[in-house]
Amino acid sequence: MGFARHIQNHPRALTVGYRMNLWVAMRLRFLIRLLGAERLARWLYVPEELTKRLIFDCRMCGQCILHSTGMTCPMTCPKNLRNGPCGGVRSNGHCEVKPEMRCIWVDAYDRSQKMTTYRDDLLIVQPPVDRRLEGSSAWVNLMTGADKARPAGWGDAREAEG
Ligand code: SF4
Repeated sequence: MGFARHIQNHPRALTVGYRMNLWVAMRLRFLIRLLGAERLARWLYVPEELTKRLIFDCRMCGQCILHSTGMTCPMTCPKNLRNGPCGGVRSNGHCEVKPEMRCIWVDAYDRSQKMTTYRDDLLIVQPPVDRRLEGSSAWVNLMTGADKARPAGWGDAREAEG
């Protein structure tokens, strides 16, 4: 966990990696047509889980918003908040639910302030997490657009981002 914290405390470098991944993913979208999303997801799931668990303690929610949360995974919040912090942050910056743990939203804010791109994305009001995507590849969901699609009545994340 110390290793992950050390890397996450360099969000600017992580943002460069994210932008490169995004660039590649957008250019590989033709693979969805060629192979089908399911097969592609089978190939990408393990490498995605291994790298993101190691670096971000990723919980494979299937709809990654790391770049909007200071490259800090919101699903590591014990309340799984997508918009934080809650009202229970302790005066020492630790979590209400797990007092031994620093609030991930305190980290998210601190790290977002070090970022040049996506810095203000922390202000975007995120829709609730779509549990139907849990355990799927966020990379593939990004390529298909499934990570932005919302059930009827939820509104559209693309509208929220302007
Ligand atoms: S936001 Fe979701 S996909 Fe991204 S690191 Fe966290 S759990 Fe993983």
